[in-house]
Amino acid sequence: MGGITPFTATDYPGLLAAAIFVQGCPWRCGYCHNPHLQERTRASPIAWNDVLSLLERRKGLIDAVVFSGGEPAIDPCLADAITQVRDAGFKIGMHSGGTHPQRLQSVLPLLDWIGLDVKANFADYADITKVRGSGVAALTSLKAVLASGVDYECRTTAHPALLPEAKLLQIAQTLAAMGVKNYALQAFRMQGCADPALNNRMVGNYPSPGLVEQLGKLFPNFTMRRG
Ligand code: SF4
Repeated sequence: MGGITPFTATDYPGLLAAAIFVQGCPWRCGYCHNPHLQERTRASPIAWNDVLSLLERRKGLIDAVVFSGGEPAIDPCLADAITQVRDAGFKIGMHSGGTHPQRLQSVLPLLDWIGLDVKANFADYADITKVRGSGVAALTSLKAVLASGVDYECRTTAHPALLPEAKLLQIAQTLAAMGVKNYALQAFRMQGCADPALNNRMVGNYPSPGLVEQLGKLFPNFTMRRG
């Protein structure tokens, strides 16, 4: 485990939660806010039993536990970890980039909610992740989520240097055509971003109100997050 946040009101929709950060991610997005979690080290900064003990003490104070990262699906023990937390009585959420579709599919029956990143048009994924073939993994993951019936949100991080508005619209149209109902656009935040080339390049009215209005018409549930 890379760490734990014992209390968060923003990581599971509508519920107070703890967030567990799993170490490791095979992708290298420039806007990653947890670049210190991209490498998977041999020694875990926090022992799993300590995580379980902390959660035990949070009973009654939080309703859910969110597995985040890094990329939680990188961990071969993910299903066991989720099962233990579930058995302790918590609802289970997960944040994923869709890096490992098979493992994701195997844990979907254990989840109550998932937030799945959609980083780009699937053919352009390597522009963001720096990893060839990542779009295929992401698309397969998205199809698995939609087929599972698990509550979900698809979300895209919007940065004008990476995703001009025409691309944002293409992504949204692709998702709407696939049957995505819950979609959020998240304006890039500089805090924690490791890539100086991306900082200070946000444009004041990006994404524009006109685009936001267009996207709002494509989905039953659309959210624009700024700041
Ligand atoms: S997929 Fe997520 S955790 Fe991995 S590098 Fe990209 S933003 Fe960071």
